Amino acid sequence: MKDVIVIGGGLAGLVNAILLKREGFSVWLFEEKKYPFHRVCGEYISNEVIPFLREHNLYPEVLNPAKITQFHLTSIAGTSLRMPLDLGGFGISRYQMDNWLAEIAKNEGVKIVHDRVIKSDFESNEFTISTKSGAEHQAKVVIGAFGKRSMLDKQMNRSFIDKRSPYIGVKYHLKTDEAKTDEIALHNFPKGYCGISRVENDTFNLCYLSHRSNLKRFGSIPEMERELLSENPHLRKILNHSEILFDKPEVINEITFEKKEPVYNHILMSGDSAGMITPLCGNGMAMALHSSKVLIKLVSIHLKGDSSRFQMEKEYIKCWNALFARRMWAGRKIQRLFGSGVVSASTIALGKRFRPFAKFLMKQTHGSPF
Ligand SMILES: Cc1cc2nc3c(=O)[nH]c(=O)nc-3n(C[C@H](O)[C@H](O)[C@H](O)COP(=O)(O)OP(=O)(O)OC[C@H]3O[C@@H](n4cnc5c(N)ncnc54)[C@H](O)[C@@H]3O)c2cc1C
Repeated sequence: MKDVIVIGGGLAGLVNAILLKREGFSVWLFEEKKYPFHRVCGEYISNEVIPFLREHNLYPEVLNPAKITQFHLTSIAGTSLRMPLDLGGFGISRYQMDNWLAEIAKNEGVKIVHDRVIKSDFESNEFTISTKSGAEHQAKVVIGAFGKRSMLDKQMNRSFIDKRSPYIGVKYHLKTDEAKTDEIALHNFPKGYCGISRVENDTFNLCYLSHRSNLKRFGSIPEMERELLSENPHLRKILNHSEILFDKPEVINEITFEKKEPVYNHILMSGDSAGMITPLCGNGMAMALHSSKVLIKLVSIHLKGDSSRFQMEKEYIKCWNALFARRMWAGRKIQRLFGSGVVSASTIALGKRFRPFAKFLMKQTHGSPF
């Protein structure tokens, strides 16, 4: 019997696994894909995570992350607002970051298994995990870090899974002279918005969220970009004058921002499995890491025999809601200001005249250093 099984090896899963292993527990992590791999993500991480990462020697200095200090917001018509970021952030590709963390995990004794978990049963105070390859594994604690949407959510019948989401996400890496190296920009286009910011090695990440009706209307991603994203003059310049470094973009659909349960079937959910904040906030990864920080403490206390499962679950739900519920709500509300010509232009005009308003909006979705 393992102490801990972690399902999913993104940021949340890897950090949970490494830190619980360091606490002396036996940890197995199941990730269906092989590292390194690209994911749809803006790859901007808020600096609120730096104290936590440094404390655990997990800040990826060796990967040469980009330093981001400025914010640039543009409307569909091209009006723009620039302001310094209070905390700032860093840019690093998930291709590098997740692979680096997976290497650390392996070197420190986490058993990483590349297999898909298809089922989790909880009986007599222990879990049995079944995988696609036909294996079964027992554990005292299971952490669900399987991201925004997994077959496992469907198998477990989580309530959010039946609610269709209208959003698709697209990501490329680029070489470009049309974006600033110290800036994260958010460019509006009809029914969507596109982020661009630097990651390591002077490469830029271009990542956007679009209503799926846009893709339906234009039939393909290149056509949608030519006809729709290019309505924004800033995006037009970037799309016309950059070298795309991927053969084809990374694309995901059904991106949902519905409420989820931090604990479900006794599985402790971490990162996007517990709830996903709208990407415009550039905060999903910080939340994934913060949820790990909280979880590791509670799991550790429980496995050492100092709290019951009931107490651990109750405390985690309480902490999760206190830390994130308001930010998630604010992210959903603020996203409504994006993707419309009139609303995006008015928001920028208001933000330019009343800087405290712009700062206020930004603060609603960001946390403090932890
Ligand atoms: C368009 C877009 C842009 C974004 N931009 C940013 C940004 O700039 N900054 C930011 O902080 N956040 C951003 N985010 C959010 C961020 O990507 C997520 O919050 C973050 O990746 C969450 O990490 P995670 O570990 O919870 O999940 P993930 O990183 O998604 O990892 C989940 C892992 O679980 C694995 N998995 C799933 N099911 C199973 C299974 N059954 N068995 C085994 N393995 C499984 C998957 O293969 C995956 O590797 C963005 C999101 C989107 C959609």
